[in-house]
Amino acid sequence: MSNHLFAEIRSRIADPSKTFLETEAGRAISFADMLALSAQYANALTGLGVQAGDRVAVQVEKTPEALMLYLGTVRAGAVFLPLNTAYTAAEIDYFVSDAEPAVLVCDPGKQDALQATADKVGAKLQTLDASGQGSLSTLAGNAAAEFEDVARLDDDLAAILYTSGTTGRSKGAMLSHENLASNARTLVEYWRFTADDVLLHALPIFHTHGLFVATNVTLFAGGSMLFLPKFDLDAVLRLLPRASSMMGVPTFYTRLLGAEAFTRDLVKHMRLFISGSAPLSAETHKEFSERTGHAILERYGMTETNMNTSNPYEGERRAGTVGHHLPGVGLRIADPVTGREVPDGDVGIIEVKGPNVFQGYWRMPEKTAEEFRADGFFITGDMGRIDEKGYVQIVGRSKDLIISGGFNIYPAEVETAIDEIQGVAESAVIGVPHPDFGEGVVAVIACRAGSALSEDEVIAELKDKLARFKQPKKVVFLDALPRNTMGKIQKVALRETYKDALAG
Ligand code: AMP
Repeated sequence: MSNHLFAEIRSRIADPSKTFLETEAGRAISFADMLALSAQYANALTGLGVQAGDRVAVQVEKTPEALMLYLGTVRAGAVFLPLNTAYTAAEIDYFVSDAEPAVLVCDPGKQDALQATADKVGAKLQTLDASGQGSLSTLAGNAAAEFEDVARLDDDLAAILYTSGTTGRSKGAMLSHENLASNARTLVEYWRFTADDVLLHALPIFHTHGLFVATNVTLFAGGSMLFLPKFDLDAVLRLLPRASSMMGVPTFYTRLLGAEAFTRDLVKHMRLFISGSAPLSAETHKEFSERTGHAILERYGMTETNMNTSNPYEGERRAGTVGHHLPGVGLRIADPVTGREVPDGDVGIIEVKGPNVFQGYWRMPEKTAEEFRADGFFITGDMGRIDEKGYVQIVGRSKDLIISGGFNIYPAEVETAIDEIQGVAESAVIGVPHPDFGEGVVAVIACRAGSALSEDEVIAELKDKLARFKQPKKVVFLDALPRNTMGKIQKVALRETYKDALAG
């Protein structure tokens, strides 16, 4: 028996001397180095007592060592549990108490604050800093560069990723070896990744996008990546000429468009730009293709499911849509209450089923059961429809749906209408309590640099575009919309800030 995920990564290495990862400073890690380094981390972990099925919780900066730790954890048969670097010690305490890892790895600067948390669950506390140094890298450095991978089956866990938890407690999504492997296999084919690809990697690696989509696809394709610690506009502009592909959140692309140096010439050699994790506006899609000649390929997925849909590699990449269900992934649009499929073109909740879909929430069997239908479809919580060309369109999270005077309002529809107004950079539409209608629409708008709009002007522009009940009852202007590190607009925070905006 082999280690399901790592055996496949290993079997796909055609040329061990080829570069797998390169940092901006020019440090190169070949596939052979990757095997040796990840073996050292696997040895370091087993030396600390880590056994198959144990969790290894990790809150560290993005470094090649952190990635080797991910692979070493998988090889040791353990479960990788990455944590957002922005989480406070109090938040980490919740995750660690819930997941009870055998090892907790943190930045040396957080060691004192987290010692008691680690002690409480009997986790060994280790460090790794932003330059890849720390007690764990020392242990790894002294360990053997060979490791016999611990046997793991396809449905054994490889990772637990806590969802961002915008409502209630954050839940640990359990991902199996085959959840990750099947998705990487599919995406390599669908997006035509090969050993010739050089992926510009500027995403965080505590999230499914940078950790699994970007890294596993590169590993499975035998390609290489230019590995940046974070999205830095100047560094991205400098490295783009050496890349063939890039994966990003929409804000990467809007920031590139804001740079004069981002020209058609700079990216004429590029093969593919991919966007996901948050909606890419049709406006950005259009502006990007006008500027560069490249149609951004938008895809849709989530922590629990890996990737579900994608625009096609060949054929129309339709702005404002997330494309078609991926091969092997079942997708349907269902009535949120009855669970029955809605007629073609109607809005409903997106449900998916396939080898990509997670194994449930860690230690929350009831919560898990609530989110699956009897026939195994997972209820994503995203509302969407299938358009006339068969492309999936997302209209928002079901929690963000606004019900005003008994009518459903999908924020995405109102946002699209607002974004078309001259001078608007971006918008977020939320529902807040309204004394007569239950909820009313509030529009939060950021204007383009040098533009100014008034509430009356916005409302006048929307008058003939949207039914009256969908029109904002209040318009608020901000310099920029609040977003998390993955570029998602923080609607929960906006609802809280403006909860009294329509009172009285
Ligand atoms: P996460 O689990 O952090 O990856 O967040 C997943 C959620 O991000 C999904 O359930 C969607 O609400 C949203 N999302 C991901 N990709 C897209 C996309 N291309 N367009 C719109 N929303 C997206």
